[in-house]
Amino acid sequence: MVQHDVLVVGAGLAGMRAALEAKKQGVDVAIMSKVYPVRSHSNAAQGGINAALSEDDSWESHAFDTVKGSDYLGDQDAIEILAREAPQAIIELENFGVTFNRDEHGRLGSRNFGGASHARTYFVGDFTGQAILHVMFEQLLRTGLTTYDEWFVTQLVKDDAGAIRGVVAMDIRTGQLHLVKAKAVILATGGMGRVYEPSTNALICTGDGMALAYRAGALLMDMEMVQFHPTTLKGNGALLSEAARGEGAYLLNKDGERFMHKYAPNKLELASRDVVSRAEQIEINEGRGVDGCVLLDLRHLGAEKIMERLPQIRELALEFAGVDIIHEPVPVRPGMHYIMGGIKTDVWGKTNLDGLFAAGECACVNVHGGNRLGANSLLETVVFGKRAGAAAAEYVKSVGDVRVSEAWLRDEEARIEGLLKRPEGEKAAALRLEMGQTMTRNVGVFRTEEQLLVAQAKIQELKQRYQRVSVGDKGRVFNTNLQFVLELENMLDLAEVVVASALFRKESRGAHTRLDYPNRDDANWLKHTVATYTAAGPRLDTRPVTITRWEPQERKY
Ligand SMILES: Cc1cc2nc3c(=O)[nH]c(=O)nc-3n(C[C@H](O)[C@H](O)[C@H](O)COP(=O)(O)OP(=O)(O)OC[C@H]3O[C@@H](n4cnc5c(N)ncnc54)[C@H](O)[C@@H]3O)c2cc1C
Repeated sequence: MVQHDVLVVGAGLAGMRAALEAKKQGVDVAIMSKVYPVRSHSNAAQGGINAALSEDDSWESHAFDTVKGSDYLGDQDAIEILAREAPQAIIELENFGVTFNRDEHGRLGSRNFGGASHARTYFVGDFTGQAILHVMFEQLLRTGLTTYDEWFVTQLVKDDAGAIRGVVAMDIRTGQLHLVKAKAVILATGGMGRVYEPSTNALICTGDGMALAYRAGALLMDMEMVQFHPTTLKGNGALLSEAARGEGAYLLNKDGERFMHKYAPNKLELASRDVVSRAEQIEINEGRGVDGCVLLDLRHLGAEKIMERLPQIRELALEFAGVDIIHEPVPVRPGMHYIMGGIKTDVWGKTNLDGLFAAGECACVNVHGGNRLGANSLLETVVFGKRAGAAAAEYVKSVGDVRVSEAWLRDEEARIEGLLKRPEGEKAAALRLEMGQTMTRNVGVFRTEEQLLVAQAKIQELKQRYQRVSVGDKGRVFNTNLQFVLELENMLDLAEVVVASALFRKESRGAHTRLDYPNRDDANWLKHTVATYTAAGPRLDTRPVTITRWEPQERKY
C-alpha cells in the first residue's frame, strides 16, 4: 500500500496546476489520471484564456462581465478572485513557456470573446488548451513527483472519522486494484459532457469525480446549469470555437439574415452563449433554420486570416461536415459543451468533506453561475487549481497518521468481481446512448416540467436496467469494457441530479430556460441549488448567492 501527502486525481490543467503548487509547498504529491496526462480533455480547448491585461482594461470590468454572464448567479467573491488573479496567471503561463500569439507590436495579442466588453482572450492559434497542457506537463515532470498514468479511480476512501484519506484505483494496464492512501485528495476530474449525446466533450468526460464525491457525501451545486455552445457541428457535435465569432464570423438564418440583430442588438454574435444558443434554437424552431441548424459564415474573413488564426476550425468543418469555411458557410447548432455546476467548494477548493478538495470543471466555486463566459474555464483551472494545491498542502501539515481499513480495497475487489461475473445482460453502450439522447431531447436549451418528468422516468428505468448490465470482456488487462460500465454508473447518477435540479429551479436563468417559468425570479431563486446523495435519490436544497458589489440588473446584450 502506498501513501502520499496530497493525491491529485486528474491531470488536466486544474490537476497539473494543483499538483505543481502543492509540490512547491514541499509536501509529497502524486497525480493520477485515467488517460495519459496530455490526453486529458483540456487538450481540446481551442479559443483562449481570459485576463484583463491591457492598459485600457481592468479586473473590475472582467469581473462585472463574468457576473453579468452568470446571470447574477455567480458568487462575486470567487469572481473577484478569478479576475484579480488572471493577469498574474497568464504571465506565469508565459514564463512556464506557453507561446501565446503576439500582436503587431510584439506584445501578447488578444481576441474578442462572447459577453466580454474588451478583447481580453489570450490564445495560441485555435489550440490554446493543447499548448498550455503540454507546457504544464513539462513543468510537472521537472518536479519529479509521482505520476500514476492510466489509473482509474473507482472509490474515495474515508477514515473512521469520515475524512477522505485516499482512493481505490485500478491500474488499467493490469486491471489490479490498489488502495492509495493520502492525507488529502484533490479532485480535478473534469466535466461530464458525455451524459449528453452528442457533446463537444471527449468520450472520457464522464463526470467520475463528481459522482464519486456525491456518493461520498459532497454537495453538488447548480447542476441544472448545463451550457449549450452555439456553434457545434450537426453530426458528431464537434465544437467550432467561439474564436470564429471572436474573429468576426456571422450567424445567418436560412434567409441569409444576421438574426442576432433581433436578440442582442449591441453584442450580436458575441452575446453570451446562453443568449446566442436560445436565439439559434428559436430561429430553428420557427422554421428559419437549415436542416435543424443555422449557418456560421466566415467567408468575409478571407483565407489568410482563417489559415493563420482558425486552422483547426477549418480542418474540423472540412473533415466532419465536408465544408470549406473559406468558401462556404457551415451549418451549426447549439450543443452540450460544459457544466457550470459541480462539487461545491470554497475559494480554496475545500469541499464539505474533510480531506477532500476539488478544482476545475468538476468543481463549482462558483464563478460561472448560470452561464460561463467563453475562455473563463481555462482561467478557472489555473487560478483555482493553484489555490487548491496550496490549500491542500497547508492542510496536510495538520493531519497525523492516515488510518484506513483494508476493507475498502476488498469491497471494491468484490464489487468489480461481481460485475465481471454477471451473466450476459444489458449492454452498457445501449444504455449510455439512450441516456444521452434522453438528456439532449428533454433537458436541452428549452425545458418544461413535462419534458423533465419524461427524462426523470427514463433515467430511473436506465438505473434499473444498469443492475443487469454485463461486461463482455472478462479479462483484466486494459479492460475498457469494464471501465465503460463503471463510468456509466457515474453518468447515470449525474443525469439524475441534473434532471432533479432542473425540476427544482422554477425560473429561467442563464442556461436554464424553463418555458413554463419563462422569467428570472430574483425574489425566490437568486439562490444556488445543492444536491445531497441519498439512497432514494438526490435531496435538493438551496444556498445563498454571494453578492459583493454588483446588484442584479436586467441582462441585455
Ligand atoms: C472542445 C472544447 C473546447 C474548449 N475551449 C475552451 C477555451 O478555448 N477556453 C476555455 O476557457 N475553456 C474551453 N473549454 C473548456 C475547458 O477546456 C475545460 O473546462 C477545462 O479544460 C477542464 O479542465 P480540467 O482540468 O478541469 O479537466 P480535464 O482537462 O478534463 O481533465 C480531467 C482529468 O481527470 C482525469 N480523470 C477523470 N476521471 C478519472 C478517474 N475516474 N480516475 C482517474 N482520473 C480521472 C482525466 O484522465 C483527466 O486527466 C473547451 C471545452 C471543449 C470541450
